[in-house]
Amino acid sequence: AGDNVQGEKMDVSQYKGVWVYLEQYEGNLRRVGLELMAPGRKLADELGQELAVVIIGDKVEPLAAQAIERGADKVYLVEGPEYAHYNGDAYTLSFTHLINTYKPNVLLLGATNDGRELGPRIASRLGTGLCADCTDLQIDPETKLVAWTRPAFGGNIMATIFCPDHRPQIGTVRGKVFKPVEPDASRTGKIVRVRPEISAEAIRTKFVEILQQCSSSCNLEEAEIIVSCGRGIGKRENLKLAEELADALGGVVGASRPLVDSEWIPSLHQVGQTGKTVSPKIYIACGISGAIQHLAGMSSSDTIIAINKDPDAPIFKIADYGIVGDVLEIMPILTEEIRKR
Ligand code: FAD
Repeated sequence: AGDNVQGEKMDVSQYKGVWVYLEQYEGNLRRVGLELMAPGRKLADELGQELAVVIIGDKVEPLAAQAIERGADKVYLVEGPEYAHYNGDAYTLSFTHLINTYKPNVLLLGATNDGRELGPRIASRLGTGLCADCTDLQIDPETKLVAWTRPAFGGNIMATIFCPDHRPQIGTVRGKVFKPVEPDASRTGKIVRVRPEISAEAIRTKFVEILQQCSSSCNLEEAEIIVSCGRGIGKRENLKLAEELADALGGVVGASRPLVDSEWIPSLHQVGQTGKTVSPKIYIACGISGAIQHLAGMSSSDTIIAINKDPDAPIFKIADYGIVGDVLEIMPILTEEIRKR
């Protein structure tokens, strides 16, 4: 047992079970949650504990069956019109209520926009820790604690983090690290409906409207191919070359931060420390120098192709394939060649 941040002793032995937060959007489960069912099941089996999921939303009951088919022993279902859209206050309060009532040992969330907000808010309220942006998790055979692995310093070191004295052990996990679990219709599980009472004053933010900036074209986290542009493309109009290349490849366009700061492209396309973390099959870095803050968001891509006119650009150190040359000449050649196939 250890002290939590409020100085109270915590009896960690009361905390049992592995939980996965199954994020949903407009009634569909997000891919990252289905991916987390794989490590969730593995951790639960190794600990000899149950795997439960948490689903929050309005009219989301059909998702409970999908969760059970993918390995959940139990589904905590929090439903109501107040949960129709993600709301930091409502979701945090419901989640902390669930945790205080049912006391899970481990909680996994996807490292999505919502997960990155929700995880730290829950951890802060409960006085426990959080390991952000993990790329692997195992049970330490000796201590039975979760060993969370995450890249640090732009992927130059891999840090292993433990949370020995507080519960639950919470982590956000990057997308595309694990494969989504396939459904097994023969599985059975239990649904627990919970509707915590939350006072109106506790909800400090109000949903107004969704401003749809783009749809699949900026879903970088789930893209298999990303053509990413940096300052080397010279001017905003040249982004068209990247769009054409991405189009030919069936991919999407990403960007380094200066392009977002210059308002050449919406921030939803930014890759890096203060942007998105992506792991596509192919990442083509066009006119990107390879600053550590950019690498932090894309170094776990399967294959990295860099195009840069400077042979000493740091991006070449992590690239699998490098093309030294003018990106404005090379991108159209690649597009043309790919279109021929
Ligand atoms: P540059 O570093 O200017 O590189 C341009 C490259 O293009 C050069 O290598 C050059 O050789 C090449 N080039 C020029 N012309 C051509 C041509 N015609 N053909 C081929 N190559 C050409 N950055 C991010 O990207 N994402 C982040 O999330 C992020 N977060 C940050 C957070 C903090 C706290 C800080 C301090 C910085 C952050 N940055 C981030 C900024 C980061 O430090 C770099 O400044 C940025 O990544 C550089 O972007 P770039 O590679 O496009 O530009």
